[in-house]
Amino acid sequence: MSFKLTADQKALVAEAQSFARDKLIPTSGSVDFHEMWRACVESRYTGLPLSKSVGGRGLSLSDCMLVFESMAATGADPGFLFSLGVHQFAFAISVASIGSEDQRAQWLTPMAEGSCIGALAVSESEAGSDTFAMKTRAVENADGFAITGEKIWISNAPVADLFAILARTGEVPGVFGISCFVVPRATAGLTIERGPSKAGLKNAPWGSVQLDRAEVSEKNILGGYGGGGAVFQNSMRWERCGLYAIALGAMRKNFGDCLTHARNRHQFGEPLIENDVVAKSIALMKTRMEAARLLLYDAAAAVDDGQPDDAAVSLAKAFVSESAVANGLAAQEIFGASGLLEQSSSTAFLNDMLPFRVLSGATDLQYKIATRLMSRSHE
Ligand SMILES: Cc1cc2nc3c(=O)[nH]c(=O)nc-3n(C[C@H](O)[C@H](O)[C@H](O)COP(=O)(O)OP(=O)(O)OC[C@H]3O[C@@H](n4cnc5c(N)ncnc54)[C@H](O)[C@@H]3O)c2cc1C
Repeated sequence: MSFKLTADQKALVAEAQSFARDKLIPTSGSVDFHEMWRACVESRYTGLPLSKSVGGRGLSLSDCMLVFESMAATGADPGFLFSLGVHQFAFAISVASIGSEDQRAQWLTPMAEGSCIGALAVSESEAGSDTFAMKTRAVENADGFAITGEKIWISNAPVADLFAILARTGEVPGVFGISCFVVPRATAGLTIERGPSKAGLKNAPWGSVQLDRAEVSEKNILGGYGGGGAVFQNSMRWERCGLYAIALGAMRKNFGDCLTHARNRHQFGEPLIENDVVAKSIALMKTRMEAARLLLYDAAAAVDDGQPDDAAVSLAKAFVSESAVANGLAAQEIFGASGLLEQSSSTAFLNDMLPFRVLSGATDLQYKIATRLMSRSHE
């Protein structure tokens, strides 16, 4: 097994690095979401995994990840990249791989072109880790379905044009009683409230979605009636790999910053890096980063090969996020007091990495999912 880049992949990485340097690193210090989104539209970064026939780039999951990793490693804001990733990995790819012909014809081109931003709405106040305890309900009527409920923590909600909303249909309990509806923002009965400010990924807008008998046609069911679980699984497979490439890239940037600081800062008459304890900390950071990278790209390669291993995806997701936070703590130590400043790169890095442990399902839940799957495969 080798993750050596091909000539095409090297070109993709170089292009992403140069784009990130020019367009995604704000000179003013603050991120203008809409300006960055426009730049991504112009340079065709909004439909990476979607086929060329609909205006995308037709990239594999692994190649999409190389793009996101490279942008984050160059210093692009992880929050903005997260939004860009949610649009593609949490939603658009499910329309592409599970949607009907009509759904693909209607939505894929605007999603690939970035004129239509997507969001995936699953979580509720009483259904977080326990996803399928959701209360949002879609009731069938003469015109289709009327959806009522509230979704919270929804990434992209304030900027999204189209929502994939999971709701309970029928009386079947658990996952089989869930369907996924594609709901346009303009739907009567759907309202959005911007979410509270969060400690990290600040430039990834989020919010709640209230649904009060929001009317949706039967044609908007993605994955068929009762097929919400399959849509969710597909989205999770892509986002647990794709979004976590952002964490990998940010780890690379953070590692470079630490190495530079440990070489340049002198204490007791020598650079910090000559100190055994600091040297060991840096070696461990590098080990965690490379191991995380191998696990994540290995899991993505299996998805690309059409043989997804969801246990490997969950374990990689958990390992990347835990490693990123461990490296964030190590960086804060290496930078000393300067690393604790609110504006320091190590504080920003740690804050941006903390949400990765929770979103897409918390670490302990990933261990449970992986163990259950491994146990089944050995029955
Ligand atoms: C930045 C960010 C973006 C998000 N974006 C979206 C989005 O776009 N769409 C969406 O639908 N949701 C989104 N979420 C919500 C996310 O999916 C939930 O936060 C996550 O599923 C955890 O649910 P919870 O926060 O309710 O925590 P809880 O379910 O209350 O869990 C709290 C803690 O308890 C532990 N725990 C709970 N159950 C178990 C278990 N069975 N086994 C082991 N440990 C357990 C875990 O440690 C967990 O962290 C986002 C969250 C964040 C932080």
